[in-house]
Amino acid sequence: MREFQLQMKKGVIYLSIPSFENNDIINGFSSRIAKGVGTNKLLEALDLNGKLYSLKQVHGKKVIVIDNEDDINGQEKAEGDGLVTGRKGIVLSMYSADCPVLFLCDPVKRVVGLGHAGWRGTVKGIGLELVKAMKNFYQCREENILAGISPAIGSCCYEVGEEVIQGTARILDNDFSCCEEKTGGKWMLDLKEVNSRVLEKAGIQKNNIAVSKLCTFCNSSLFYSYRRSGGSTGRMMSVISLGD
Ligand SMILES: [Zn+2]
Repeated sequence: MREFQLQMKKGVIYLSIPSFENNDIINGFSSRIAKGVGTNKLLEALDLNGKLYSLKQVHGKKVIVIDNEDDINGQEKAEGDGLVTGRKGIVLSMYSADCPVLFLCDPVKRVVGLGHAGWRGTVKGIGLELVKAMKNFYQCREENILAGISPAIGSCCYEVGEEVIQGTARILDNDFSCCEEKTGGKWMLDLKEVNSRVLEKAGIQKNNIAVSKLCTFCNSSLFYSYRRSGGSTGRMMSVISLGD
């Protein structure tokens, strides 16, 4: 099934990708209900107790490969928007409020990745860079890679200006079909679909890409939304890790 599914474990509501779980890849996208005080409810629900990595996300395209526990150790917050690992016991994490998060795994080589793909990172090519890192560092083959695109602001609510539309069309080789023009030089953009096509451009098969239909702006009981809140909000946590 090419969708994220709502799950509840230990009283925590989150979403996960069935095709990943079927391959023993532990993954989750927290709802706002998964926010705990002091402890991390999502990690508890997923029984994840490996070493947790996160980045200072800067809307760029830099991908960091964590191949041993010392990687980015000591730099409490290395800058970047993509993480990849082929090691067990390592938990990759990303945070988002309206931006799509890209989930990637290669069940054959046993490699996982996460990317933060707001429009700036999307246009810079974070999706392409993630797949490139999996191929270059771990010899993953595109046809084996499974992908997921998390809940994010949908085309129902994501109004953008021309700069954004030109950028997304550029990364898709002049394809404007992911957006719809409104009056006043504004457009409604389907950023999840843009990312899906970027991943296809990277060689991932369309059938292997699960795209969440849920809009973070519309679903206020489930998700935080940066735009809905006017800029100050909580964020959802995404995690991925190789199972045993
Ligand atoms: Zn919406």
